[in-house]
Amino acid sequence: MDTADLAPRTVTVNGRSYRFPRQPTIAVCIDGSEPGYIEAAIAAGLAPTFQRLMRDGANLQALSVIPSFTNPNNISIITGAPPSVHGIAGNYFFDPASGQEVMMNDARFLRAPTIMETFAAAGAKVAVVTAKDKLRALLGHGLDMRSGRAIAFSSERADAATFAENGIDHVLDFVGQPLPDVYSAALSEFVFAAGVKLLARHRPDLMYLSTTDYVQHKAGPGSPEANAFYAMIDRYLGELDAAGAVLAITADHGMNDKHRSDGSPDVIYLQDWFDARLGKNRARVILPITDPYVKHHGALGSFATVYLPPGAAAADILAALSLMEGIALAIPREAACREFALPPDRIGDLVVISTRQKVLGTSLARHDLSGLAGPLRSHGGLTEQTVPMIVNRKVAVPPGRTLRNFDVFDVALNLVS
Ligand SMILES: [Zn+2]
Repeated sequence: MDTADLAPRTVTVNGRSYRFPRQPTIAVCIDGSEPGYIEAAIAAGLAPTFQRLMRDGANLQALSVIPSFTNPNNISIITGAPPSVHGIAGNYFFDPASGQEVMMNDARFLRAPTIMETFAAAGAKVAVVTAKDKLRALLGHGLDMRSGRAIAFSSERADAATFAENGIDHVLDFVGQPLPDVYSAALSEFVFAAGVKLLARHRPDLMYLSTTDYVQHKAGPGSPEANAFYAMIDRYLGELDAAGAVLAITADHGMNDKHRSDGSPDVIYLQDWFDARLGKNRARVILPITDPYVKHHGALGSFATVYLPPGAAAADILAALSLMEGIALAIPREAACREFALPPDRIGDLVVISTRQKVLGTSLARHDLSGLAGPLRSHGGLTEQTVPMIVNRKVAVPPGRTLRNFDVFDVALNLVS
């Protein structure tokens, strides 16, 4: 019997109903896919599939979650909800309960079920492939691998995948590619190659493919390296499309140059600024971009949150920050959580966002920029919020609705014709 005969007609996750897929439905997150990359690859004649999908399907744009970082946006996509619901407001945060600064890539920080686990529990076959392992535990959270209906693994640790942990083993043989280096375009290519194989062999009802922005951090739209990367993606998308899947492609955030004309990073060192104003280490500046992959960005992005010492004059501090060149926005926690749908208990007293070309640091002495591969390109702010939403079907967006990137499953399951 076809499992679709037994399946419910809709599945509700975090207050939103999704139609049960009638054909394999794939959401793709191209990490750091600033608008312009795809268009430049098309203009160079390297992306015929993108060109066809954008012409015959839907070529839309969407807004990412703020902070425009990888984890909050991937988790918003997999839950269909903003950080106020799922709790993941950065890659990194300060936990006031323990007094520790910690990585937020542990599933214990996740406060909402994922679309994947809910569909799997309702009888769907699901698969998740991510480039970096830092996301795999969160994106695959709640999946019952023993059900035989769920698969979740990363390119980074594909060699270590086990049936008990990932719902699949011998992944390198299955995909037919060697284990890629974590700092490589091949890490993302592995995701797509795995997606094509999974679609052919497992025919999941619902699949999520999420790449890494190694290339976008290094190379701007239209550069030879970026064009080659998008040409690679284009070939795999062509295969997924030809296999009959519904494909919806978005990004977790955009990407911009964040350096001066001499190539040095254009940084406002906020911890130094607060130390000069309030005394050493009295305020605590948290950069939620912080992760172990420092070669990408040196922990420099356009979003920071700040914990103030008791009695600090927050209004005066915000007024001074707002006047500073390179600061786009400096607001208190309540306003930031309202504006950007963030969880108040994981945000400091202040939120600070820099302008397009600037990034926010802690202290000059605390950033090791020696590992940066080239002039800094990064993200995190309002200027990296616009991302593509490209679908290989026509899409009916209700009038007046602003699409978010975390609507990608809503678009693929509910809004396609
Ligand atoms: Zn990202």
